[in-house]
Amino acid sequence: MAKIGKQTQFSLTYIFLALWAVLLIRGLVVSYTAVEEVSYSEFLQALDEGRVREIEVFANFIRGKMQRLTAEGAKEVSFATVRVEPELSEQLKRHSVAFKGVVENTLVRDLLSWTVPILFFAGLWLLIMRRFGPQQQSLMLGKKARVAMAEDLKTTFSDVAGVDEAKQELEEVIEFLKSPQRFTHLGGKLPKGILLVGPPGTGKTLLAKAVAGESKVPFFSLSGSEFVEMFVGLGAARVRDLFTQAKEKAPCIIFIDELDALGKARGMGMMGGHDEREQTLNQLLVEMDGFDATIGVILMAATNRPEILDPALLRPGRFDRQVLVDRPDRQGRVAILRVHIKGVRVAPGLDLELLANMTPGFVGADLANLVNEAALLAVRHGKEEVGMPEFQEAVERLMAGLEKKNRLINAKEREIVAFHEIGHALVALCLPGTDPVQKISIVPRGIAALGYTLQVPTEDRFLLTKTELENRIAVALGGRAAEELVFSDISTGAHNDLSKATNLARSMVKEYGMASDLGQVYFESERRSPFLQTAMGGSQEYSDHTARLIDEAIKAIIIGQYRVATRILQEKRNSLEGGAKLLLEKETIEGEELKRLCGAAPEPPA
Ligand code: ADP
Ligand code: ZN
Repeated sequence: MAKIGKQTQFSLTYIFLALWAVLLIRGLVVSYTAVEEVSYSEFLQALDEGRVREIEVFANFIRGKMQRLTAEGAKEVSFATVRVEPELSEQLKRHSVAFKGVVENTLVRDLLSWTVPILFFAGLWLLIMRRFGPQQQSLMLGKKARVAMAEDLKTTFSDVAGVDEAKQELEEVIEFLKSPQRFTHLGGKLPKGILLVGPPGTGKTLLAKAVAGESKVPFFSLSGSEFVEMFVGLGAARVRDLFTQAKEKAPCIIFIDELDALGKARGMGMMGGHDEREQTLNQLLVEMDGFDATIGVILMAATNRPEILDPALLRPGRFDRQVLVDRPDRQGRVAILRVHIKGVRVAPGLDLELLANMTPGFVGADLANLVNEAALLAVRHGKEEVGMPEFQEAVERLMAGLEKKNRLINAKEREIVAFHEIGHALVALCLPGTDPVQKISIVPRGIAALGYTLQVPTEDRFLLTKTELENRIAVALGGRAAEELVFSDISTGAHNDLSKATNLARSMVKEYGMASDLGQVYFESERRSPFLQTAMGGSQEYSDHTARLIDEAIKAIIIGQYRVATRILQEKRNSLEGGAKLLLEKETIEGEELKRLCGAAPEPPA
């Protein structure tokens, strides 16, 4: 569709050019050929005197050759004359009136009759075009997706900071793009679709560009939201076009920003979904399945809402790799600030660590903005270099805006979150048989969690003992226990933990027969097909009395483990306070510092 549009447009331009040329030439020919225009009476006289040699008679004029008597004798000239009504000319001749016919010069009129409509339509076209965004404009003109070639992309990994884990995961992609053949030769598994997941402004687009820049391949980019406002059918055509182009330029990267706008689960939303979006999404899936990864086209996409994506997009062979691009911690912010002050003349000895301390919750885009704002303030203050006062003022300004957008948590909340997370970590560190703690962080992650404690199992487990399950419950409750211990008050932040603890306890009682006074009985009804289950509701195969006992057993487990958690934290009160302080300061704790947190040898509670 788009292609035809382009061709027609081209040929139209040529036709117009040709017409102009014809009209111009006609005008020139008419005015410059050596035909002498004579008056009609002169023609009649010549006719009378027998001097006219040959004539051609047209409806309005007569053309021919005649002898002309000059001082040097008779000479033949080509002539043309405009005819005058025969009777009138008779009469005029009788009265010896000199007369001639006149042809109106129609050149100007002809030109106008051509140009006015053309100008009119051109104006109309421009008017229509102005009402659409540049994206639709280029579509209507049949232009292809914008292509930024590798030369344009000077972005490298050194421009992206504070997201080292994401960078590490993308190394392999760069390796692949640099020489796809070599990579396949060595038997590497080919990456095809990579989903960058993270909050807005954390540098997902920047990372994708850096991958293109590092591997020196072309970078095609599109935004998912552009498709949604398109005319029906164009989105799909556009996707097809994009892949055709990309395959020609392989190895290359296709980047789709805001994949969620395009890739929302089908059938969601009002009125049975958005037809255009679904068509486009389907086309995208078709194209993704339709190319062989060996040619070296890598699809990258960014989203901050992976949970609403159509599951079809995440299937193997599509976006089956997800890379988390998280908010930076304090160290990360220092690194990002270092990147952005490169182009700015800052006061010597500017304390970036201090700046990072002042900006918890800021993402890369905010920090870039901060440096920019500070530089502007310095100009306004008439300073030669950007110093701490400017940065301080800029932080205050940006803070206000970000707080309104609810992106930052305030100091009190940070403190609660810090104690909460240390609570989880300490309980986990002190109880035997729990998964080792890898990292504690109060950098908000994703949408729901304000902080997190990362526990990674050292081995795959198929069997868990009763004690291990109990310990897990205690760890889940550790956050809330710490809050209660320190603040004598509790917050809503534990809601996820409670559901996790309760689910574990329920399984222990109902499925694993681990509640002593209920005996080794299995109370969970067998899993049915999901359709049946919803139809029948939660059918219950035990008496109300047993139900009460089950509830009580679950409650007993929870209360017992909450006590365990509280006791550990009471004993480790110093570690709790120290850890929270450290966490507030550094935002993440891992490795050696983590080991030191609990003291050398964590003694199990008696
Ligand atoms: P996203 O795509 O995640 O919304 P962008 O990549 O568009 O974020 O980031 C916007 C701008 O913010 C970038 O152009 C860059 O200047 C700055 N920025 C964001 N993250 C980082 C980072 N990790 N390191 C350096 N600059 C960053
Ligand atoms: Zn928690």
